[in-house]
Amino acid sequence: MLPKRPERDALRRLEDRHGPLRRTVWAVLLYLSAGLLWITFSDRLAEAWFPDPATLSVVQTWKGYFFVLVTGLVLAVGLHRQLRSDRVRLRLQLRQREALWRRERQLTVLMDNLPGMAYRCLNDEHWTMLFVSGGCVELTGYQPEELIHNRVRSFADLIDDDAAGEVAAWVAEATARDEAFSVEYPITGKDGRSLWVWERGCAVRDEDGSMVLEGIILDISTRKALENELAELATRDPLTGLVNRREFTRIIEEEMARCDRYGRPMALLWVDFDHFKDVNDTWGHAAGDAVLCSVSRTLRESVRSVDTVGRFGGEEFAILLPEMAREEARETAERLRQRVRRTPISLNPSHDIYLTISIGIALYPEHGGDADSLGIAADKAMYLAKRQGRDRVVEAGAPEAARSRKPG
Ligand code: GH3
Ligand code: MG
Ligand code: MG
Repeated sequence: MLPKRPERDALRRLEDRHGPLRRTVWAVLLYLSAGLLWITFSDRLAEAWFPDPATLSVVQTWKGYFFVLVTGLVLAVGLHRQLRSDRVRLRLQLRQREALWRRERQLTVLMDNLPGMAYRCLNDEHWTMLFVSGGCVELTGYQPEELIHNRVRSFADLIDDDAAGEVAAWVAEATARDEAFSVEYPITGKDGRSLWVWERGCAVRDEDGSMVLEGIILDISTRKALENELAELATRDPLTGLVNRREFTRIIEEEMARCDRYGRPMALLWVDFDHFKDVNDTWGHAAGDAVLCSVSRTLRESVRSVDTVGRFGGEEFAILLPEMAREEARETAERLRQRVRRTPISLNPSHDIYLTISIGIALYPEHGGDADSLGIAADKAMYLAKRQGRDRVVEAGAPEAARSRKPG
């Protein structure tokens, strides 16, 4: 809950510079009038009552004493009252100052122990900082005074260029709706280190109507890295590290859209290991896994960086070759087949085995207009290669004998 604001009328009254002067003039006028009245009337009365000059002189002296005594008493009472009230006010002021100091200390301790950095900034293009807490050093590497009033860098300069526009738009949208905002974006610290931060803030209006932003910024790099790792894991096959079926399907669809846009060809290879069960049966499942990893590596290293190798489960793999037409696709498939059959796979230091693969080729859009139909066409071609004796490359839709490649 926000603390109550002091009464504005009371503050305004205190700021009236003429108040004390006016009161002093009134007091002086009152004193002068009382004095004059006293002198005039008391003299007349004394002269009327005491005609004897000797007695009158004594009475005048006593009248003077009396005047001094009365005015002294009035002055003493007034002064005492004033000093007493000054004392009360002073005590109150000191107590308030102490309470203020305690609150400020609490706030400073709180701010400095907050995870991340608390801030108050102008809502301008530089996010000009008016205040930042001590956490700024750990978060950005800059001292608070380096960021305040953009002395060394403005906070906007720390935000990555790609994200800056989006951050400004989010903040503008939330403040226009008079709502708090939460944004995540990457920044670069003083040492050049890149980190992700989460910011929550809101707009606060000053009395003059100007708007400032107040909030907190936290380092969420660890969480972001974990999120990226999880996202990466969700797209990868854990054994071979190749992309999994779901990710591969997504990539095919993306590439198909690109092919449609630019009228370019694309080829899909479907790969299955020949007699892989024998490897498992002879050398055990762990050795089979090692073979899977080794052949995956060979496939990955034998294609271009723009190509995608995916594992579809078991010992079936698919390879996407963007911008590749029939002849080049055939040559690539043939090269892969030969490279796998010639690459020894060492199961233990003393024993190497050799494996062969069968490959089916499907071309986009000739053999399928979507990921599923293209995959089915390539799979069928691969099975044709199996039927024709394995260790060969067959193109989808080909008459069995004519298009198959003989093992070399
Ligand atoms: P073919 O030439 O007809 O393809 O014969 P194949 O023995 O390779 O037969 P198929 O492709 O039908 O069998 C695949 C085998 O791969 C069956 C299964 O035991 C094995 N396999 C599937 N996934 C894994 C795996 O993750 N690790 C291991 N070690 N073996 C696997
Ligand atoms: Mg097989
Ligand atoms: Mg299989």
